[in-house]
Amino acid sequence: MEWEDLTNNPLVLNNYDLLKKIGIFDYIEKLKLESLNQNELIEEAYNIFLKESVDELVSFIIKCLSDKFIPTDLVFILNEGITINKLKTYAYHNMNNKEITLELNTLEPYEPFFRKYTGTTSFSVFEYEISDPALLKPFSSFNPEIIVPIKGLSGLYGIILFGPKILSEEYSKREIEYIDKLMKFTSVGIQNNIHYEHSVKDSKTGLYNHNFFISRTNEELARCRRNKKSFSLIVMDIDKFKKFNDTYGHLAGDEVILSLANTLKHTLREGDILSRFGGEEFTVMLPETGREEAFITAERLRRGVEALEVEYQGSIMKITISLGVSTYDWVERISETTMIERADEALYKSKEKGRNRSTSYKSGLLHRAHKANKNTPCL
Ligand code: GH3
Ligand code: MG
Ligand code: MG
Repeated sequence: MEWEDLTNNPLVLNNYDLLKKIGIFDYIEKLKLESLNQNELIEEAYNIFLKESVDELVSFIIKCLSDKFIPTDLVFILNEGITINKLKTYAYHNMNNKEITLELNTLEPYEPFFRKYTGTTSFSVFEYEISDPALLKPFSSFNPEIIVPIKGLSGLYGIILFGPKILSEEYSKREIEYIDKLMKFTSVGIQNNIHYEHSVKDSKTGLYNHNFFISRTNEELARCRRNKKSFSLIVMDIDKFKKFNDTYGHLAGDEVILSLANTLKHTLREGDILSRFGGEEFTVMLPETGREEAFITAERLRRGVEALEVEYQGSIMKITISLGVSTYDWVERISETTMIERADEALYKSKEKGRNRSTSYKSGLLHRAHKANKNTPCL
């Protein structure tokens, strides 16, 4: 039965005044509104689960909230490291992004509180229970009124703080219920994103991991085979890194790997897939990139690393890398394993010829043709 059928029913019309007086219509209106809100929330939840990064998800939440009410301050503190502490903060003042430095390295001291209070909670309860001023100080500048945990399989993933509403009214019961439900979905969405990031990235450098690299390379290979296009791989390895570790120590080596990863990241284009393939070996997949262009990219990476100066405990450290390039040619129809083997072979040549250089793999006719071109050293 539809609402319209009911309002046209003679029995209802005959008893209209009575039904109105006892509040039936108001109650039905309230239920209709609640049902509308629930549908809206389900739609929002669906959108939350579609977001492909925490950044995207946080922006979406900001939009959802600002359609309802505007908190003066809204702060997301997330532990993106899961098992290690790596806090990231997203802060908004009047819904505008605000750069802040949070004096907080871990959420561990707050875990017992959120085991007891599992949902949306008044900040005054948090203040009362935590009581230690040093543990409350990091949040004081946001003037929070509500605190929400992001909890999941690995414990506490983060917390969200809501400051007072811009219009300075109290949060209504309905608004708190909305926040609580939205934040439960947000919590699952954030966890999904954090776990996905961990499954495809190397936790030390933030670069893609070996498995993701292979899977993206296979995808690109299939695409190029279909569309008769080329793409290239670069494999690189730090020169004489054993000796480096022996001279400066393993921790210095780790610091260098981190700086190297950042240099490589900033030298490449968006869309290039950079991975930490192994300990001190890195790979790049360059979509829709031919042999010459890939070699130019390899040389750009090599020069970038050559110019890199890493400061560690007062000393400046320098390294070089050797690189090998292989290019997919749709006529050959080679596998991803062969492509990597070829790039490895080219890398080996770079090492053999004295390191700190790039070599491009060439085979068959292409090899001979390439010999005439002096610009690209090749096998
Ligand atoms: P080559 O120029 O021939 O590459 O010489 P190499 O000494 O670099 O030789 P190789 O590539 O075989 O050595 C890899 C070394 O890199 C061994 C290992 O101690 C070091 N290494 C691998 N992963 C890491 C890491 O995560 N941190 C540090 N500090 N060292 C690493
Ligand atoms: Mg190596
Ligand atoms: Mg090496």
